[in-house]
Amino acid sequence: MAVGIKIRELCFSYGSQEVLSEINMVVKPGDFIGIVGPNGSGKSTLLKNMAALLRPTRGAIEINSTGIEDYKRLELARLIALVGQDQQPGFNFQVEEVVYTGRYPYKERFRPPAGVDRQAVERAMYLTGCYHLKDRDLFSLSGGERQRVFLARALAQETPVLLLDEPTAFLDMGYQVELLQLLQGLNLREKLTVVAVMHDLNLASRYSRKLVMLNRGKIFARGSPEEV
Ligand code: ADP
Ligand code: MG
Repeated sequence: MAVGIKIRELCFSYGSQEVLSEINMVVKPGDFIGIVGPNGSGKSTLLKNMAALLRPTRGAIEINSTGIEDYKRLELARLIALVGQDQQPGFNFQVEEVVYTGRYPYKERFRPPAGVDRQAVERAMYLTGCYHLKDRDLFSLSGGERQRVFLARALAQETPVLLLDEPTAFLDMGYQVELLQLLQGLNLREKLTVVAVMHDLNLASRYSRKLVMLNRGKIFARGSPEEV
């Protein structure tokens, strides 16, 4: 399913502190958008608004022309997956169990896990290179390994749109490139729409087809990596 996101005049405040002001942005199906900007510029807050974890103070976010607040939580979770910046495991699950939790938007449709769920989970673990970790406890993993597990969880969710908040932050250079190549491949081959906050401007320019640069809660520049 092709999913487009339209953000109109979005403002967001934590209490009295306005963190995002008048953001206008369109995500088209098949886009690969990198969001860059200094610490504290509002990147994570923007992504959380797009995932409906936060509600805009003013303005609107539309998913396929319907207000994001009009979607049921599980309905939205079948369209948009988020890998958060500081994803903390709540419990010491085994890796495979964590990835299985990515299937939660579909649980109304089945009782015990079905073949499609197992396929999605195995594929996601395989793609992200964490199949060999599947029986390990989450708490025993390194930051980078854990990051790949949470990406696997999001891929198992099988959404047309994937939002990622600094997905390569804890990874070694080689793994950073590998992960971005994986996302690029999914974007090109499977039309997965990717919106990724990235701290490394070089990597962001190399892998995104569009860049949005935030500064103090406003869009400071946008366009192709060359233009920005
Ligand atoms: P970025 O991801 O670009 O580093 P954030 O979106 O995390 O920026 O934060 C933007 C601003 O909002 C920062 O000044 C930060 O301190 C503030 N902020 C973030 N989360 C909260 C919160 N839960 N409560 C209050 N202020 C917050
Ligand atoms: Mg952030």
